[in-house]
Amino acid sequence: MEFTEEINNPSRVHFIVSRDDLYKFQVANESFDGFIKLLLRSYTGMFSEFVPVNEETLSLKSAATRDTIYQYLVKLSSLNIIRYIPGKKTALVIFTEERLVRKALMISPDNYLHVKEKYEIRLNKMIEYADSDSHCRSVYLLDYFGEESDRCGICDVCRERNELELSKYEFDIILEDIKSILSGENPDAEELVKLIDYPEDRVIKVIRWLLDHNKIIQDKDYKLTWKS
Ligand SMILES: [Zn+2]
Repeated sequence: MEFTEEINNPSRVHFIVSRDDLYKFQVANESFDGFIKLLLRSYTGMFSEFVPVNEETLSLKSAATRDTIYQYLVKLSSLNIIRYIPGKKTALVIFTEERLVRKALMISPDNYLHVKEKYEIRLNKMIEYADSDSHCRSVYLLDYFGEESDRCGICDVCRERNELELSKYEFDIILEDIKSILSGENPDAEELVKLIDYPEDRVIKVIRWLLDHNKIIQDKDYKLTWKS
C-alpha cells in the first residue's frame, strides 16, 4: 500500500456521446450550446478519453461564476452527455498489488486463533491499565513496551499517593519491605510496623493505603496477608 500526501486531482470530463449526437443535443438544448462550445474550444480529446479541465479557467473565459460552470457540468453529466469527475484535493491510498475479493481471502483457523489470543492479551492489558489504582499509569505503559521507568508523580495514582505525603521512593521502599515480610509471615499491623525500620506514621500510611486498595487483607485476628 502506498500513501501519497495531499495532491491535486483535477476535474475530468469525457464526452460519452458521438459528435453527431452532441450536435443534435446542442440544437435541441440551446441553453447548453454556449457552454458546450466553450468546452470544445478549450480542450481537445474529450471524445476519446477523460481530459483534465479547470472550472476556474472556464469561469474566467466565460465570465460565468465557478459555481455556474460546476452546475453546467453536473447537469450535462446527469443528462448522460458527459462523464464528469469533480476535482479533489485529498491524500490518496494506492494499492500497489491487486486487491483480492473478500471470498478469495483465507485465514486459517490456527492463524485466526493466534490473532484472537493476542488481541485478548492486549485487551486485558488495557482493562488492567484502566482498572488499576495501584500502578503508576506511566510506569505501566512503559512496562508494556518493555521499558523501565520511575513513577511519574503526576498521574491520578501517583497524585493519590502524593497525598500520603510520602516521597515516591519512601512509599516504594516501605511497600517492598511490607511485601517481603508478608511473604514469610502474617503479623498484625502493630507487629508489622515494628518490623520496619521507618517512622511509624509513614509505615501506617502505607499499610492503610494497601488495605484500602486490597493489596493486603486482614483476617478476623487482624493478621495481614499480601494479596498477590
Ligand atoms: Zn504516575
